[in-house]
Amino acid sequence: MSFESLGLVPALLRALADQGYAEPTPIQAGAIPVVLEGHDLLAAAQTGTGKTAAFSLPLLQRMSQGSQPGIRRPRALVLTPTRELAAQILDNVRVYGKHLRVSNTAIFGGVSMGPQIQTLRKGVDIVIATPGRLVDHMQQRTIDLSGVEVLVLDEADRMLDMGFLPSLKRIVSALPRQRQTLLFSATFAPEIKSLAMQFMHSPREVSV
Ligand code: AMP
Repeated sequence: MSFESLGLVPALLRALADQGYAEPTPIQAGAIPVVLEGHDLLAAAQTGTGKTAAFSLPLLQRMSQGSQPGIRRPRALVLTPTRELAAQILDNVRVYGKHLRVSNTAIFGGVSMGPQIQTLRKGVDIVIATPGRLVDHMQQRTIDLSGVEVLVLDEADRMLDMGFLPSLKRIVSALPRQRQTLLFSATFAPEIKSLAMQFMHSPREVSV
């Protein structure tokens, strides 16, 4: 199995070669083609399996292809439970996207809103956010989620454990109904299945 055979564009293949990744991990091999085809995805994968690249690579590819200059609204939203994870995902997205023109930022609590508002105003394609701080931006009307084409729920089980369900519902209700949704969780517990029923449309399932 090679990254080429998964259907990734040359700019991403180059970034992966720069990183020295020889071949996709099982979650990447399972998820990337499904996401590139535009399906919703329910993926069971623990940290350390390469799940960040499994959603970041096809996300970057989609963002690079449909890019419309002058559109300032975010086109992809990645929700993750903690600021550390948000910062880590941002690092990964920047590494994999270094040969593409896709802009990105991370929005999390514990720091002032001002710089985040400035970045959002300038316009950014991919927003990686923790649910609490994203809801703060929604309340202050400093983010417009009406152009989101892809939603990623990373570590969905942890977000539920941390009590983010009301925030998640609020965020999802502000997104276009027609979108692609990817949900990553360590397990497919009943609460995760129920979340998938509420937020997703005939998801394909991949577990490793
Ligand atoms: P994650 O599960 O997303 O936290 O990724 C775990 C680690 O594996 C990260 O440090 C990645 O940089 C690395 N990684 C992801 N995909 C690959 C791959 N295909 N080959 C080698 N390392 C990888």
